[in-house]
Amino acid sequence: MQPAEDHSLYYHYSRYLRETFGGKTYKVVVNSGLTCPTRDGTITKGGCTFCDVRGSSSFFGKQGRGGEIVDQIDRRLPGTRERFKSEKHIAYFQSYTNTYSDAEYLRGIYLEALSHPEIAGLAIGTRPDCLPDSVIDLLEELAREHYVSLELGVQSFENPTLEWFIRGHDGDCSREALRKMRERAPSVHTCAHFIFGAPTDSPTAPRDAALEMNRSGVRGVKLHQMMVLKYTKLAEMHAAAPIPMLTVDEYAERVIEFLEHLDPSIYVERLQAKASHAKELVAPAWSMTHWEPYNRILAIMRERGSYQGKALGFPRRMPAEVLSLN
Ligand code: SF4
Repeated sequence: MQPAEDHSLYYHYSRYLRETFGGKTYKVVVNSGLTCPTRDGTITKGGCTFCDVRGSSSFFGKQGRGGEIVDQIDRRLPGTRERFKSEKHIAYFQSYTNTYSDAEYLRGIYLEALSHPEIAGLAIGTRPDCLPDSVIDLLEELAREHYVSLELGVQSFENPTLEWFIRGHDGDCSREALRKMRERAPSVHTCAHFIFGAPTDSPTAPRDAALEMNRSGVRGVKLHQMMVLKYTKLAEMHAAAPIPMLTVDEYAERVIEFLEHLDPSIYVERLQAKASHAKELVAPAWSMTHWEPYNRILAIMRERGSYQGKALGFPRRMPAEVLSLN
């Protein structure tokens, strides 16, 4: 069941969006027509081990120019508005690596999305090794006039986990990308994505990641549990030799450790993920629903008096203080 929002435990993405846009804001997914270096053979083929982007592959290979992006927004926006009663909308280049092209092509697709009268900004999903200076400078140029969020797939700073995910980059590559974004593109709202639960993770991975975030200049973070989905390399590995999966309480421990060490000025877009196609979920079974694991994480936090920034010595936000911000 969906609980009432409790903004005293962590800095919700919904509150950040209301503070940034002044109204109920949702993302409208668009496809850039780009691929990934882990899919086109540059690093490997078949994608990172955990990744299943088949859901949006109907757009794969199409060029996102000449009205294609605007058409996608026109098709999807009415449903988003109807379902969520949203007032403002962000064009979300979600699947694949949406900076994996030259800056001229990227300028075209980003500006086309921004040309739509109902689009208030961009969210651009990408990898840390696909951010040359020319693209970072383009993002900063756009972000001085428009809202631009970079959704950066860090996934882990730990090299054994990055190798197990077959990411094709190491932790230092992410640190360097974050440094460049902080120094060359300060107007861009960078949000770092993490996956917890790989068997290669060290016990301190969540705490270490949070402490790196506090120094990184990011505005937000997004957390996912490691899931095994059909049609991925992980599914093949799991079929050959079952991969140990976290229980929901074990995953909650990692989230709480991360949040307690995270600066409370950094928003949290998501605490855990739900398998978008239930029939394609292999494990863990608790990824089938959103609210059950979410409520369990919050229940454990309440039991312990846990909240974002607690281990850093920050006071807990009082609900009244937070309400006055909404
Ligand atoms: S995780 Fe990202 S980079 Fe890896 S295959 Fe999937 S979309 Fe591409």
